[in-house]
Amino acid sequence: MYEILVTGGAGFIGSHFVRRILRRDDVSRVTVLDALTYAGHTGNLGEALLDPRLVFVHGNILDAPLVDELMARHTAVVHFAAESHVDRSLTMADSFLMTNVLGTQTLAASAGRHGIAEFVHVSTDEVYGSLAEGSASEDTPLRPGVPYAASKAASDLVALSHFQTYGLPVCVTRSSNNYGPHQFPEKVIPLFTTRLLQGEKVTPHGQGQHVRNWLHVEDNCAGIELVLRDGKPGEIYNLGGGTDLTVRDLTVKLLALCGKDWDSVTCIPDRQANDLRYSMHWDKIAAIGFRPARDLDEGLAETVDWYRHNPDRWAPLTRTPYAARITDAIAPAGEEACAH
Ligand code: NAD
Repeated sequence: MYEILVTGGAGFIGSHFVRRILRRDDVSRVTVLDALTYAGHTGNLGEALLDPRLVFVHGNILDAPLVDELMARHTAVVHFAAESHVDRSLTMADSFLMTNVLGTQTLAASAGRHGIAEFVHVSTDEVYGSLAEGSASEDTPLRPGVPYAASKAASDLVALSHFQTYGLPVCVTRSSNNYGPHQFPEKVIPLFTTRLLQGEKVTPHGQGQHVRNWLHVEDNCAGIELVLRDGKPGEIYNLGGGTDLTVRDLTVKLLALCGKDWDSVTCIPDRQANDLRYSMHWDKIAAIGFRPARDLDEGLAETVDWYRHNPDRWAPLTRTPYAARITDAIAPAGEEACAH
């Protein structure tokens, strides 16, 4: 039986994972440890909160005594907790290093002390940096281009060092950009969707030429579950297989789904650092059975529908002082002609 400590389980991906893992009969306990930063919300866990196997603990992964106390009651760790938004990392990198690097060290050290049998560290394709051409495999050198990616790359190395040094059975997953319901409206899909639904303009950086691979959050969670079950300790698994699309083409799709046209678009100068393209090989995880199941157009339609029907979940967030407006705050001032 699995007794799983899930860090960051009130965030976007972590909450999808918790709901998914609770469908399994061989899971007897799931503890969510989450600091409920601006990005975390217990409402993301929905009906899972009623499951008697779920315990929610409001706390910080940097709190070593608390982490030790919780670790003693679990057999596995799936570690999502992180500062996760690139734009924020450009102006507040310290908190990224604290949570993402030192937080991972705190968890891994405690996991080692308590003989944890599986430790899945959830990471990102952004650690490989921008690739002009080709795709990164798991042994491609890390060239993170922005503070968020640097903090994740460092956290991957910290986690893996606990395998090398102490034999902690760590696996690392590196996924491409996730999308789906319940995402905080700061990353491009929920940000643009919520703006369009409110009748506001959306603002691609530059000419929206940046390419990302879009993976449905449920596909990522299926991959993480697979690695938890069948991953080989000490290994890294790229979790790609979504759809490559420029931000510009993505914007066109979101305009159509929200019933808007190009008049709702104002291009702004590119931000200070913006990796042009990410791309990964994912044959290693495919070899242990991973197959992404979600079509991008269907997944986007379902995602936009969720935002359309749940304004109570996101509209208050767009009115907070932090709001989702940081994305504009870090862009150089001005507008650019936005050809279409
Ligand atoms: P998110 O920002 O939605 O959620 C992060 C969660 O971690 C929040 O619930 C927050 O309250 C919690 N948290 C933050 N600091 C904490 C701390 N010190 N102690 C305890 N809890 C803390 O992030 P997400 O998009 O769900 O990403 C989850 C993980 O997946 C992250 O590690 C991220 O780097 C990685 N990832 C995300 C994407 C993506 O597209 N969103 C892609 C690849 C990898």
